[in-house]
Amino acid sequence: MSETLQIKSPVATGEKNVFDVEKIRSEFPILSRKVNGKPLVYLDNAATTQKPRAVIDRTNHYYNYENANIHRGLHFLSELATESYEKARLKIKEFINAMSASEIIYVRGATEAINLLATTMCRSGYFKDGDEIIVSHMEHHANIIPWQIMGGRKNVNLKVIPITDEGELDLEAYKKLINEKTKLVSVVHVSNSLGTINPVKEIIKYAHAHNIPVLLDGAQAVPHMRVDVQELDADFYVFSGHKMFAPTGIGVLYGKTKYLDKLPPYQGGGDMIRTVSFEGSTFADLPHKFEAGTPHIAGGIGLGAAIDYLNQFDPMDILRHEENLLNYATEKLSMIDGLRIIGTAKHKSAVVSFVVDGIHPYDIGTIIDTDGIAIRTGHHCTQPIMQRYNVSATARASFAFYNTLEEVDLLAEGLNKVIKLFK
Ligand code: PMP
Repeated sequence: MSETLQIKSPVATGEKNVFDVEKIRSEFPILSRKVNGKPLVYLDNAATTQKPRAVIDRTNHYYNYENANIHRGLHFLSELATESYEKARLKIKEFINAMSASEIIYVRGATEAINLLATTMCRSGYFKDGDEIIVSHMEHHANIIPWQIMGGRKNVNLKVIPITDEGELDLEAYKKLINEKTKLVSVVHVSNSLGTINPVKEIIKYAHAHNIPVLLDGAQAVPHMRVDVQELDADFYVFSGHKMFAPTGIGVLYGKTKYLDKLPPYQGGGDMIRTVSFEGSTFADLPHKFEAGTPHIAGGIGLGAAIDYLNQFDPMDILRHEENLLNYATEKLSMIDGLRIIGTAKHKSAVVSFVVDGIHPYDIGTIIDTDGIAIRTGHHCTQPIMQRYNVSATARASFAFYNTLEEVDLLAEGLNKVIKLFK
C-alpha cells in the first residue's frame, strides 16, 4: 500500500453525494452486524455514533504508515504525522467556520473542553466572589459540575434558565437573570435528553448587548446541523468527535482569540512551552498553549476524516432525513397507549425521550435489547431535567442520518411487545 491514502470520495472535487440511506448504511460496517440474533437497530446516537469505514480506514492508515510523535522530530514520519494532525485542525476550522485554526483547541471531548474553560477562567481571576454564571435547566452534567467545582472556590453562583413543560427555554426569564454580576452564559445548543434546539443566536445577541461572553455546548448539534461559529457569534463552542462519527477521546474547544489569548495554560508539560528554566517558563502561542503532552493524534486525524465524510453530503439532506425520522417516530410512539414523550419543543433534533406508565425505563431498554434494539435509559447525565419532569429516568431513542423509518417501526413493535408482557 502506498504511503499516502487515496480517499475515494467526491470531497476533493467539492461534489455532493446523492443522499441514499442504504448506501450510507453499507459504509458503516457495524450496522450490518447482528445483536442477539437480530439485525442491529442502533438508536443510541446521542450517546455515541457509529463510525464509517472511511474513518476507521484513515485511523488504521495512520497507525500502519504514519505513526510517530508530532511537533517534535524532524524525521520523515514525525513530519508526516504532524502534517496529518494539523491538516485535520484546518478541516475542523473550516467545518465550523472559525476565523483561524489557532482557535481550534484539541481536547478529549466536550467535557474536557468545559473543564478547561472553567479551570483557566477561574485561575485567570475572571470571576470574583458573588459573580454569576447563567446555565439552563436542560444542561448536561458536563456544563454544571465544572462550574461548581471551579467556581465554588470563588463563590460563583449558577443561575438557571427555567424551561416550559414542552422543554423550551423561557427566554423572558433568561433576560431577567442577566445583571451586573453575570460573567458568563453557558448553555446547551441541542439538549441530549429532550432534543430541544435552543434559540442560541438570540441568547448570544442578548448577552452580548450586556458585554457577557457565551459558551455553547454543541455536543448534540454538530453531528446534525451545520454550525457556523462566526455567524452565531459564539465566544466558545465545544463538541466531541465520537458523537459525530469520529473516534472517542477527541473533541474540540473553539474560542475567540481575544478570550483564549488572555487565559492561562490548562495543563503544563511538553509541547505547550516556548522556554523552560527553573526560574520560570514561557508558554507557546495558541493553540499549543492549551495542548500539553502527547495528544490523541489518531483521534484528531480520524475527526478530520469524519468531517471529510460528512462534507460529501448536502447538510440539508441530512437535516430533512432526520426530521422525517423524528416526525415519524413521534407519531408512531404517540399512538402507543400509556407512553408519554418528554420534550415536545417546536424545534427539535431527532431525539425522542419517553416514559411508559407502570414500566421502568430500564425494563424497556433491557427487553427490547433482546430484539437487537439499542436505546438509552437513565437520566442521560441530566438529573435536573429528570427532577423538572418528576421522573427518575426516561427511555431515549436518538437517531442519526443512517437510521431508517423501518427501524422506527421495529422500535414501536418492540415497545408494544414490552407493554403486552407487562400486562
Ligand atoms: N454535552 C452534551 C449535550 C452531551 O450530550 C454530552 C454527552 N452525552 C456531553 C456534553 C459530554 O460529552 P463527552 O462525554 O463526549 O465529553
